[in-house]
Amino acid sequence: KPTDLDPGVEPHLTIQGLSRRYGAFAALDGVSLSVRKGEFLCLLGPSGCGKTTLLRLIAGLDREDAGQIRLAGRDITRVAPAGRDYGIVFQSYALFPNLTVADNIAYGLTPRRDRARHRERVRELLDMVGLPGAEAKFPAQLSGGQQQRVALARALATSPGLLLLDEPLSALDAKVRDHLRDELKRLQRRLGVTTLMVTHDQAEALAVADRVVVMNRGRIEQIGTPDEIYRHPQSRFVAEFVGEANWLEVTAADGRSVTAGSQRIRLDGDIPGAARLRLFLRPEDVRVREQWKPEANLLLARVVDSAFGGAMSRVALRPEGMPGVTLTALRAAGERSLVPGEIVPVYLPPDRLRVFGEEASC
Ligand code: ATP
Repeated sequence: KPTDLDPGVEPHLTIQGLSRRYGAFAALDGVSLSVRKGEFLCLLGPSGCGKTTLLRLIAGLDREDAGQIRLAGRDITRVAPAGRDYGIVFQSYALFPNLTVADNIAYGLTPRRDRARHRERVRELLDMVGLPGAEAKFPAQLSGGQQQRVALARALATSPGLLLLDEPLSALDAKVRDHLRDELKRLQRRLGVTTLMVTHDQAEALAVADRVVVMNRGRIEQIGTPDEIYRHPQSRFVAEFVGEANWLEVTAADGRSVTAGSQRIRLDGDIPGAARLRLFLRPEDVRVREQWKPEANLLLARVVDSAFGGAMSRVALRPEGMPGVTLTALRAAGERSLVPGEIVPVYLPPDRLRVFGEEASC
């Protein structure tokens, strides 16, 4: 489907049926997508699933075999990179080592002779990315995070209509990465620049994106807000790739319930007609209760392990009647700590359970 934007919303970027083959291998297989003006979209997927290929085609750094790309109402499919109106940031900062920060940033600004105006623009951009006064420095004098700020300033120098980011944070230390991620998001909101970011890090995608595009084997598996992707994965692939999950092998009992071992589990959603079924449940939805009462989906489980994790503790549980099954549950700080060996009632909320059939993944 070409778009899942609200009808009436004019997309800023439209990709239609985009394909790229390498020999017999389809790196990108008929991808269609619409992006709103000012939207922050993350392309998320495992290595080799075509994210970078898609970004490179939009940038004109690679040639598609089929399909069309439109930006701001203009067909740019055959337009050279320089005429497409985007800024790009790569994982490896890709700054010119022999140029100062100021010259790196001003590199794409024209006309070249307009020195005074460029100086002012560089100052403004350095303020914006949190590096005021760094004009005269050389890239080698900067940390990775600082270099990536310069790369971002350079990408934004011409106020492009589209910002393309190819794993811009993956080379950075965890702490710098989280900090820069939040800043990037704030800056993107402030500027309202339509942004596409490639990442293989699902936490990063969920944290920054307005919508996440989950890709698998050259195709789009699902497009949705972080909440939709996390709470309502449409396929087993998405459920497995995004967030943490418990998976149980189950068999269909009737239209509304399945069995795992000797336990019957009821759920609200549909049960697919596949030969092998797996039940999906997020750890935060495994609810440890204080009291037992006979009720559907209330099981008894033995606490195997409980690991302190700051705001959330992680508890391993072995439900009775389900040989070989261990469930992971999350407990908020402040709830009673569970002791290994103790038996607790565990409730599996029917509206939080999903059943998927077996399917191949990347
Ligand atoms: P990664 O995070 O590893 O970069 P990705 O999702 O961005 O993964 P792509 O770089 O888009 O993946 O590559 C998609 C597939 O196309 C990969 O299997 C890759 O090996 C293949 N591929 C990419 N470029 C070429 C090329 N020039 N020649 C042959 N195969 C290629």
